[in-house]
Amino acid sequence: MKQTFKLILSGLIILLIGCGQQSNQENSTTDSTKVENEAATSSTDTEVKRQEGYIMPGLDHGFEQSPINIISSTHESGKHHITLYFKDEVNKIENLGHTVQLDFAEGSSIIQDDTSFAFKQCHFHTPSEHLIDGITFPMEMHIVNLMPNEDKNATPQYLVIGVLFKEGKENKFIADFLNAIPKKENETTTLKAGTVKLADLFGAISTKIKRDYYHYKGSLTTPPYTESVRWYIAKHIFEASAEQIETINKIEGNNARHVQALYGRKITAK
Ligand SMILES: [Zn+2]
Repeated sequence: MKQTFKLILSGLIILLIGCGQQSNQENSTTDSTKVENEAATSSTDTEVKRQEGYIMPGLDHGFEQSPINIISSTHESGKHHITLYFKDEVNKIENLGHTVQLDFAEGSSIIQDDTSFAFKQCHFHTPSEHLIDGITFPMEMHIVNLMPNEDKNATPQYLVIGVLFKEGKENKFIADFLNAIPKKENETTTLKAGTVKLADLFGAISTKIKRDYYHYKGSLTTPPYTESVRWYIAKHIFEASAEQIETINKIEGNNARHVQALYGRKITAK
């Protein structure tokens, strides 16, 4: 509710600034300079617009941002092959205030083509960040994997698997940790080895479905919005009960980033 209000408010501010600016421009700028401004490179253009008082949302972070709306009929056939190795071991659960996060023990991995990534953590968004054909789902889980790199100054390379949930049957994977989520923000609960496993989530679906993903190149959906993420959104829509989704939503609130423009990026699918 609060967010909607803020949005409306910022919309109003943009409109007001836009209107005020337009009358200034009519007085002081000729049509030909306007055209020149529009033809300038995007960064110059952004700077000019900023000086003129226009707000340009989104462009500060580049052209490969996430999440996106995935149009299922327009994808191109992709050749990527990913294999999940379910030696995953969740050893901690954190209430970070803005999200609920499960941390993996070291040693679990995922392989994309020939590149190995290490399981780091998975966390939840309510509602979903990615949309399929314009549809928002009540929950999305991100399984975050990081490419090992000795060079600490190099940009971290991520592979994130997005899993969408619709309301339905109780989900065993979620049931196994739901009561262990710390009630207070920034608290962590240590989990007994083997009690929470991704294998419980993916194990229930067939191998064929398990390999069906939408893939595109994008960014982290939280600051610093780094554009080094290989996104894989599972085509299979998982189920969780209304109570499970509500419990997670009550802890983290509405924490989905807005959908970002594609800017010509291709979505591939297996
Ligand atoms: Zn996320």
